[in-house]
Amino acid sequence: MPSVISVENLNKTYASGHPALKNINLQIRKGEIFALLGPNGAGKTTLISIICGIVNPGGGKVLVAGHDIKADYRAARAQIGLVPQELVTDVFETVWATVTFSRGLFGKKHNPTYLEQVLRDLSLWDKRNAKTFELSGGMKRRVMIAKALSHEPEILFLDEPTAGVDVELRRDMWAMVRRLRERGVTIILTTHYIEEAEEMADRIGVIRKGEIILVEDKDALMHKLGKKQLTVQLKQPLASIPAELAAAYPLELADEGRALVFTFDVQREHTGIAELLRDLDRHGIDFKDLQSSESSLEEIFVNLVRASA
Ligand code: ATP
Repeated sequence: MPSVISVENLNKTYASGHPALKNINLQIRKGEIFALLGPNGAGKTTLISIICGIVNPGGGKVLVAGHDIKADYRAARAQIGLVPQELVTDVFETVWATVTFSRGLFGKKHNPTYLEQVLRDLSLWDKRNAKTFELSGGMKRRVMIAKALSHEPEILFLDEPTAGVDVELRRDMWAMVRRLRERGVTIILTTHYIEEAEEMADRIGVIRKGEIILVEDKDALMHKLGKKQLTVQLKQPLASIPAELAAAYPLELADEGRALVFTFDVQREHTGIAELLRDLDRHGIDFKDLQSSESSLEEIFVNLVRASA
């Protein structure tokens, strides 16, 4: 798949001397949903802001749909819709005037049919004549998305799109992002909600202290770094794990000795479960139930960020 955004050897040090980005290399594929994960202050907003032309890069090169963001700023920027973290709009304007104005800023011809579709997709059509300040917080966020889409961008950046919104709006936004992707729009989102990345992303990038520490297909990542756990509910509580079993298996006691938790690698063909159950029997340890669970992206992410500390 061709790259729609290409970032090469990008650096950024703020005037304070703080190195916010260190030699970033990243290719975003056309039509994908890419989630950028990282703890607070990792450099997510700085990276997005540079690609969108809001913050000056230090060294390095960024191409958006083949256009250099410095030498060919207007052409690069025209490809991008940005939904920033904060609400920035004239709250005394109507929704319709706001989106019409945003489109005009990009020198695009008036196209009421397209803007109507955007507002309908975002369930904002009924509110088109309302002034933004009259809208709820969730509706204001939808207006920000409508503004970002007003000039028919090929690429949409969503910086923390669902921070502080309720579950229903979050689901609506996810559905909208999927519809956009079906139309071929490339979507890059930053999020603190790992559940959001897990649900939405095709690929995940993890950034930490200004460095990209990993870029991977989500499914491959979860497969590669995921662990499974088998919880064995015991008939009689155990005071401790018999030494022979403790030496042979990664086991932990849980629930005040009423459960044994066995962690194994998803990738390994041979899980060792059958042997474990046989060995439990040999030690006279009876069980009444078994449950298995897979690690979430959240656990993988926490481990990754911790491992590279
Ligand atoms: P968050 O998840 O909290 O939004 P982030 O990953 O988006 O964080 P950035 O906002 O890109 O992180 O910040 C990266 C680093 O650069 C931080 O240490 C931040 O304090 C610093 N920084 C950001 N903007 C500026 C600025 N204008 N001047 C100086 N330092 C800045």
